[in-house]
Amino acid sequence: MNKPKIASDWMCGCAGCHMSLLDMDERILQVIELADLRSTPITDLKEPDESGVDVGVLEGGINNSANEEVAHKMRKRAKILVALGDCAVFGGVPAMRNFCGVEAALRQAYMDADSNEPGSQIPNDPELATMTKTRAIHEVVPVDFNVPGCPPDADVIFYVLAELAQGRKPELKDDLLHWH
Ligand code: SF4
Repeated sequence: MNKPKIASDWMCGCAGCHMSLLDMDERILQVIELADLRSTPITDLKEPDESGVDVGVLEGGINNSANEEVAHKMRKRAKILVALGDCAVFGGVPAMRNFCGVEAALRQAYMDADSNEPGSQIPNDPELATMTKTRAIHEVVPVDFNVPGCPPDADVIFYVLAELAQGRKPELKDDLLHWH
């Protein structure tokens, strides 16, 4: 029997959700027994975006057009889409700049903060926020499961992936959800 395929990708946030996924430690072996891991932080495989998967896991909020493209591509290739981490679920830390506006946030980060060298400029980098607001994934494409947490515990990630890999619907009970 073919194992279900799982792929992940990340957008605007930090590496915390990726690290939490790796914190599953030896339970990663159990997930590997249940599922074929494609293009995840565990395998480091990069597959063509067109390659279909059963479960797609997206981390991070949507801050620029590149993030938006990643979200659309994963939604298209995955039968089930999981938003992993607060940034993906409601915008999280990157969405704090929604309250002051993108220009003010970039000026503060790259020019006005005391830690910047005099004369520093906002870099011309496509990875920077270019949209008026950071958005959660569900604001751009339909999401099947939201897994909050900053980052979600490795226990939760294991539970969700193992349940989905076995064709079951994960139920996130209160005792599985923690905010650090
Ligand atoms: Fe980082 Fe927290 Fe966002 Fe995950 S939810 S990407 S740990 S800031």
